[in-house]
Amino acid sequence: MSTTITPAPSFELETYKPLDNAELDRRVAAVKQQLGNDLLILGHHYQQDEVIAHSDLRGDSYQLSEMAAQNTDCRNIVFCGVHFMAETADILANRPDVLEQRGHRVTVTLPDMAAGCSMADMAAIDQVENAWDELGEIIDNSDITPVTYINSAASLKRFVGEHGGIVCTSSNAEKILEWAFEQSSRVLFFPDQHLGRNTSLKMGITNDQMPVWDPYAEELGGNTEAAIQNSKVILWKGHCSVHQMFQPEHVHSFRERVEDIKIMVHPECPQEVNDLADVSGSTGKIIQEVKAAPAGTKWAIGTELHLVNRLKHEHPEQEIHFLSPVICMCATMYRVDLAHLCWSLENLANGTPVNTIEVDDETSKWSLIALQRMLDVSK
Ligand code: SF4
Repeated sequence: MSTTITPAPSFELETYKPLDNAELDRRVAAVKQQLGNDLLILGHHYQQDEVIAHSDLRGDSYQLSEMAAQNTDCRNIVFCGVHFMAETADILANRPDVLEQRGHRVTVTLPDMAAGCSMADMAAIDQVENAWDELGEIIDNSDITPVTYINSAASLKRFVGEHGGIVCTSSNAEKILEWAFEQSSRVLFFPDQHLGRNTSLKMGITNDQMPVWDPYAEELGGNTEAAIQNSKVILWKGHCSVHQMFQPEHVHSFRERVEDIKIMVHPECPQEVNDLADVSGSTGKIIQEVKAAPAGTKWAIGTELHLVNRLKHEHPEQEIHFLSPVICMCATMYRVDLAHLCWSLENLANGTPVNTIEVDDETSKWSLIALQRMLDVSK
């Protein structure tokens, strides 16, 4: 267990749930005023609007953690996102050089502990360790660089750090893979097979060189020895439950119905969708593309629903559609609602913080090594 969780709340969460948004808004604003610069509320782009309205900073998971690390005033971070993001914020905001500069630890709170990430949960550390040992029986695992997407538990970042590996984001994945291939002739990529595959294909690696490791298969992750020996990138069988929902027929349907439509998707989408898109890029890139596009541009965007709706609202000069006919939203992130935010903030103000995330020292140390390698490579 790499994370310590504080005990039961002093204010009952149940009493917050019946409150209307106006009352919750008022109380959240009151705590923000009371705590002033001691408090930093971070809101992920996929978060619901009611929560984003109270966030001091908005961004993707890595941007938010970096912003948290750079803030030298605050004592408390409330991370409106999911569990692995709060862990990363704790690791970066409390890293030794930042601690020395700031002079005190920062407490990181996740308003709802049930706000996990289904993708991160698909690569449990014991499964990863078993896979590593099994691979070592047929190939030289000193010649494999493990790479984890930032959307992973701290325990996996630690594993990667301890084994000479590195973290990547959806915006720097290609650069990180290039670095990994300077260290070894093979890569083991966690936990999102789609980001790993879409990035590797761009680099000229072919699908027959990318076996998928299924942690539930009886042996060799469901692969033959020959497939593992022939591999360049071994992909972990994980995916994002939101981005996996986008399908090629959604792209075809828009192209048939809307003249001059541009399709833009996140690289967590399956290869079949990614290959059909005009633009594939991280959350940050999607936002930048929309901001930079001339008025009248028509987009069908394949990423989380709250972000697409917000882009639609903030860019009325463009025609923005959601790529799928079904609702694709991050159900776990959606758990962080106004009631949970207000509950966690009032407990903080009361001196009885709840749902605090504290990554243990050894896990922080190795995760930081893997994160720092990424920062150095991305410069
Ligand atoms: S959108 Fe996907 S990857 Fe992001 S937090 Fe939700 S389940 Fe995880």
